Amino acid sequence: MQDYQAPADLLKDRIIMVTGAGSGIGRAAAKAYAAHGATVILLGRTVSKLESVYDEIEAAGHPKPAIVPLNLEGAAVKEYEELAMTIEDNFGRLDGLLHNAGILGTRSPVEMYDPETWNQVMHVNATAPFLLTRAVIPLLRLSTGASVIFTSSGVGRKAKAYWGAYAVSKFAVEGLSQLLSEELDDERHNVRVNSLNPGATRTNMRAHAYPAEDPRQNPAPEELMPTYLYLMGKDSAGINGQQLDAQPK
Ligand code: NDP
Repeated sequence: MQDYQAPADLLKDRIIMVTGAGSGIGRAAAKAYAAHGATVILLGRTVSKLESVYDEIEAAGHPKPAIVPLNLEGAAVKEYEELAMTIEDNFGRLDGLLHNAGILGTRSPVEMYDPETWNQVMHVNATAPFLLTRAVIPLLRLSTGASVIFTSSGVGRKAKAYWGAYAVSKFAVEGLSQLLSEELDDERHNVRVNSLNPGATRTNMRAHAYPAEDPRQNPAPEELMPTYLYLMGKDSAGINGQQLDAQPK
């Protein structure tokens, strides 16, 4: 997967939504998907960041993306349903969904963990992906071979002390991914759902989690894109319900 070489037209005419598309891994994925022919729906909370990704995609001559400003922390159920209606009106279906947006919260023992921060992290990292997926399932079913990718983490598979709500939220994401991989995979609709752990990656989140680390020791988000492309495109057809890694373990 890490050595995958995506054909230039891998995602031609595909409609793909990326959450947290304004920075870090989401930004790289949005640009990589657009560069391989997709019309990308850029979802995020900071409009200026989304606009800059939009401008880069447009300047490169790739399909014109769409911007969806949405704060996953506070968005109401109705907003997800309206978003689904807007996608249906404009595109008629959804071929791919990368759940990438996430927050770290605080690193502290469970005993000291601030309950408000706990709720915030659980909401952004786990409940919001549930609400978004729930709203767009009918649109994924209108596609052929749609791919849903949930972003996990090493601590979402084996918890480590002091990772608090972040670790628990990623366990929840793994659970949601497994549930959906069973519920959505039928012969007629063929929607596949997997979880992907990017591994240590040079982003703002990593810098916050490991302030003493030299960022140069981790790959840039762009270096993970072979796996992100592979899982989103038709070459991974049949891969469903798996826990995958974007870097060698
Ligand atoms: P960044 O912090 O660089 O990017 C996170 C993205 O999520 C940003 O675009 C951010 O928007 C968006 N986001 C955060 N909160 C909200 C919200 N309330 N509503 C909408 N968007 C929001 O992190 P990474 O790129 O490193 O992380 C991407 C994913 O990869 C996350 O799910 C993370 O848990 C996971 N991961 C990362 C690892 C790493 O080493 N980097 C390792 C393992 C997993 P804005 O910029 O506007 O704040």
